[in-house]
Amino acid sequence: MGEFATLLGPGGPLARVIDGFESRREQQLMADWVGEALAERSVLAVEAGTGTGKTFAYLVPALLSGRHVIVSTGTRTLQDQLFHRDLPVLSQALGRPVRVALLKGRANYLCRHRLQLADQARSLPGIEPPSARALSRVRAWAQVTRSGDLAELTGLREDDAVWPAVTSTRDNCLGTECPDYQRCHVVAARREAQAADVVVVNHHLLLADLALKEEGFGELLPGTDAVILDEAHQVPEIAAQFFGLSVSSRQAVALTRDTQLELTRLGLLDTGARGLVSRVESGFAQAQSALRGGPERVEYEALPAAFMDSLHEAADALGALAGGLEDTGSDDPGVRQCARRAQELAAAVETWLSVAPEDGVRWVEAARGFSLGFSPFEVAARLRELMKARPCAWVFTSATLAVGDDFAHFLGRVGATDARTLKVDSPFDFERQALLYLPRALPEPSDPTHTTAVVAAALPLIEAAQGRTFLLFTSHRALKEAARLLRGRPGFAERYPLLVQGEAPRESLLKSFREHGGAVLLGSASFWEGVDVRGPTLAVVVIDKLPFASPDDPLLKARLVGIRRRGGNPFFEYQVPQAVLALKQGFGRLIRDREDFGVVAICDPRLKTRRYGRLFVQSLPPAVLTEDGEEAARFLRSRLAAAGIASPRVASA
Ligand code: SF4
Repeated sequence: MGEFATLLGPGGPLARVIDGFESRREQQLMADWVGEALAERSVLAVEAGTGTGKTFAYLVPALLSGRHVIVSTGTRTLQDQLFHRDLPVLSQALGRPVRVALLKGRANYLCRHRLQLADQARSLPGIEPPSARALSRVRAWAQVTRSGDLAELTGLREDDAVWPAVTSTRDNCLGTECPDYQRCHVVAARREAQAADVVVVNHHLLLADLALKEEGFGELLPGTDAVILDEAHQVPEIAAQFFGLSVSSRQAVALTRDTQLELTRLGLLDTGARGLVSRVESGFAQAQSALRGGPERVEYEALPAAFMDSLHEAADALGALAGGLEDTGSDDPGVRQCARRAQELAAAVETWLSVAPEDGVRWVEAARGFSLGFSPFEVAARLRELMKARPCAWVFTSATLAVGDDFAHFLGRVGATDARTLKVDSPFDFERQALLYLPRALPEPSDPTHTTAVVAAALPLIEAAQGRTFLLFTSHRALKEAARLLRGRPGFAERYPLLVQGEAPRESLLKSFREHGGAVLLGSASFWEGVDVRGPTLAVVVIDKLPFASPDDPLLKARLVGIRRRGGNPFFEYQVPQAVLALKQGFGRLIRDREDFGVVAICDPRLKTRRYGRLFVQSLPPAVLTEDGEEAARFLRSRLAAAGIASPRVASA
């Protein structure tokens, strides 16, 4: 064990200063490897099991390195935790004052220019204005805020029309031509980030910066010595979005609205300009109506001819609008910006229309208007090139990167096949704390009776644990059916509050689950990861099926085609490893602490009947395995009793 054993050890500065700090060998080992990667500017991937204390294991070497480090996270919760809690505490404990900055996407900051324009929106026909109340709150706050971070403004609804009216996008930002540039909050936040020693960002922003796209500004990475990506299992999906193309009809709606606002401000909104704007609106509206009545997602090959004709017309109309705006002769930055946006939007639609079939997959989503999507078959090679062009240390870490002990799947997807790898097991005692229950005699997942069988297998566990259960589903259909079955059981909902995804916001469902202490929560994708319920409030996790991604997903299709084209086997090279990682995430909801205990039930017979089933089981933490439902229920009753929780009531049905 190297230098970090002392710092992170029982007699070290962290143990002395931080309340409840627990010295862990696993944490020290990881810190050593991260420290080495930072010193050598190498690429490292670390899978750190739950409870390793991985944030300290990378933050301590980062702070001591004296270098410029970017830490990127997948979620806002972790971003806030690092910035507001972990970094200040560590910097104090280590006696290292460091300049730390939290940088968010531009949609999180007030745009002064658009706040002024928002007043015009109140007088234009056909434009939904933000409410006067919301706008006056923003205006009052704008006078006093230092950071311009909209998180300071609480109490406004997330879907309030005021947000897009007072924030900028890369499309509508006037940049250096903006009269408010010197006082701009977005610009100030970026300057602060450049001057800081440690910058906390999210993966979207990092990848945008790396790919010089969208809201990235390409100024963070050149001065950076190390990039540490936590929750790195999310990086490949996000990278795929950045190397693809997405154009939405909402961009056109926003453009026509902003054009009218800017022209009205200058008194230039005449009949000719109105005609150009309405030609764009009608091109997109006709394309949208050509999709009406069809499926929500349509592959390129199946698009109706009327849609394609309207899309060509919409692209032409955008070009005409750009020309018309230029012809006004106005040198106003707002008008010039609208002309540029119209041109870029026309170019994006034309690029989408002219993609070569061998480059990737194209589709259209018909929801909230429509959007054109394109995903290339290969993203790893591009990611590798971009990383190679930045000669700094790259550290990828997450609780789920490896399949068994093998990192090849993850590294292949991020184009870092020559990275060093480290797998740090969780310090938790899974054999004592958890039971893996694989119910017997279940129907195949495709069988129509499967969800009924899942509910039947879950009921004795729910009764034994007196609620305290997460039921995790791989589809909304199964989730709804299970909710219906449970609600149909006499007395069930009276004994156990049933919290169902979709019936309330995610955070409020979790809050109710924690507060009640004996609830049953039914969730799909968004509850499989990033949910942390500690203590006996959660004692059972039931998983309905192995989480293979939906074969209808165009991004998945693109990837599978890509693998097939280079002679690989998409099922074993991609779908199985991907599902293993997702299952590890789901399993990871149960044991979050040394004192946690419980049962994970996986109701998919393929774990036992298919050759690949063993790989799934081997990749999970080493809980004791049972196929006996009574043993699982006994385990729960005895552990709850040991935790001082009274015996369960007798089931009434
Ligand atoms: S520079 Fe861009 S983001 Fe900043 S105030 Fe101006 S338009 Fe808004």
